[in-house]
Amino acid sequence: MGFFTDTSVCIGCKACEVACKEWNAIPEDGLTFTGMSYDNTIGLGADSWRHVAFIEQDKPLAGQVTGGVTGEDAQGMRWLMASDVCKHCTEAACLDVCPTGSLFRTEFGTVVVQEDICNGCGYCVPACPYGVIDQRHGDGRVWKCTLCYDRLEVGQQPACAKACPTDSIQFGPLDELRERAALRVDQLHEAGVTEARLYGHDPQDGVGGDGAFFLLLDEPEVYGLPPDPVVTTRDLPRMWKLTAVAAVSLAASVAAAFARRAGR
Ligand code: SF4
Ligand code: SF4
Repeated sequence: MGFFTDTSVCIGCKACEVACKEWNAIPEDGLTFTGMSYDNTIGLGADSWRHVAFIEQDKPLAGQVTGGVTGEDAQGMRWLMASDVCKHCTEAACLDVCPTGSLFRTEFGTVVVQEDICNGCGYCVPACPYGVIDQRHGDGRVWKCTLCYDRLEVGQQPACAKACPTDSIQFGPLDELRERAALRVDQLHEAGVTEARLYGHDPQDGVGGDGAFFLLLDEPEVYGLPPDPVVTTRDLPRMWKLTAVAAVSLAASVAAAFARRAGR
């Protein structure tokens, strides 16, 4: 199960952020005025499990007519609004490095932190290729989106998807969501929105596909997303193998040295 977030229909109402905070009883995180458009949340963190980005661009919406012209000659501005969240990676490095088993894969395929087991070591923080997971100030433990595990267990959909008035956030079986997303991209391309593309939908990508994937209207970097994320523990098995080979070689050399000395 997972999320498909279609940013082309997001209206920036932040109902998802509010629903997430309310359902999960997440503390407030500053209520600061950033001056960054209508974005006062800034990014995902221990106390922001959904973040609605507002990206202002000096280009018109696809197909928009300004001053009687359209296409590349048209003037104007547009907002790209997108509700970001933990990607619930298929190959999740946060989970690989957790020494306590606090992070675990649920029966729904999602990645969840158990706050009563987390010891605040913070290993998972640099391991996440998206910079999602974060330690809470004054607490030390890590917190992130649980994809509303408690709601899923009783057959409810996550609070953000339930609250989204435009269905920008859709919840369901990933295969079904991927099919729906591909049709939506085709529809947008036919309507002239040629920049529409999917992000995190491909099970062959560097993290084995995201459990929360997106339809974007520009390059991922514009939204603060890495263009080609890779599971940061990818090289660990090879490194352990090399370490084992080095240890065996060292032991063999020491044994040979002792054998030579004994033979003198
Ligand atoms: S996005 Fe980061 S925190 Fe979320 S599952 Fe992937 S590695 Fe873990
Ligand atoms: S609730 Fe839906 S439309 Fe509103 S900001 Fe969140 S994703 Fe966008």
